[in-house]
Amino acid sequence: MTTPEVEVIRDPAAWQARCRADRDAGVRIALVPTMGYLHEGHASLLREARRRADEGGRRGLAVASIFVNPTQFGPSEDLSRYPRDLEGDLATCAAAGVDRVLAPADPAAMFAPGHQTWVTVERASEGLCGASRPGHFRGVATVVAKLLNLTRPHVALFGEKDFQQLAVIRTMARDLDLGVEIAGMPIVRDADGLALSSRNAYLSAADRARALSLSRALLEAQGAAASGERDADVLRRRARARIEGAGARLDYVEIVDATTLAPVARAAPGSRMLVAAFVGTTRLIDNVALP
Ligand code: AMP
Repeated sequence: MTTPEVEVIRDPAAWQARCRADRDAGVRIALVPTMGYLHEGHASLLREARRRADEGGRRGLAVASIFVNPTQFGPSEDLSRYPRDLEGDLATCAAAGVDRVLAPADPAAMFAPGHQTWVTVERASEGLCGASRPGHFRGVATVVAKLLNLTRPHVALFGEKDFQQLAVIRTMARDLDLGVEIAGMPIVRDADGLALSSRNAYLSAADRARALSLSRALLEAQGAAASGERDADVLRRRARARIEGAGARLDYVEIVDATTLAPVARAAPGSRMLVAAFVGTTRLIDNVALP
């Protein structure tokens, strides 16, 4: 089998010129922003971008960006050791039908010296991951705003794996009239339930067993809620016990309204349970819809 070629562009200005010409020519564009080290979760977004670009019967443009965005990492986070594999990522993109990839040569290609403009999405960035990662969502919103401006896609796809990030980006797109559809995609999991993440590469076999407690705790809560246990404190306490019992260090477990991300006292349709925990030094997140 031959792998189709993907065009790689290193220079954001060249990328912008190419995408603008395509958009002006009436081509439909679908974008998937990523930090690379792509796995099957990313691949599901890339394949959907292919499908969404081609909506309307004419072949569109499915594009992705691969950029480890330094502005969304805190000073004590894993920026310098974040896993990278551009060659493997391009093969994944090609197999998913992606036409073009923006892979900025270095951080300065996106954040030149003198950069001083930031996008802050206020309420959606507060609490949950925003509480333990100060400045994280400012970095995310700013880089996504730049990628949307550079690409001007009709639709941009994001995973529900990063549920708060999706809410932040939806809010930004609405508040700033960005004129792009933000599409959320379901979480892809390993056969044992662990949510796929580039950071799973950090986990030893023993860590991986501990990491499984996150998805198990969430599934347990889903089951309990389906059987009538709606008290958020009860559901959260059980999840905490399951995760801490497995030897992970819980950052938070919350039950929130899926649209506003405000905590709820009772689980109801439209509620979402979100967790973050450290397994060793690796911070993992996961979430499920509650019935
Ligand atoms: P990242 O490279 O971690 O910034 O992720 C890029 C995009 O892929 C984000 O929109 C993530 O939410 C999404 N993503 C990451 N992991 C998964 C997964 N397991 N299932 C679905 N989407 C995912």
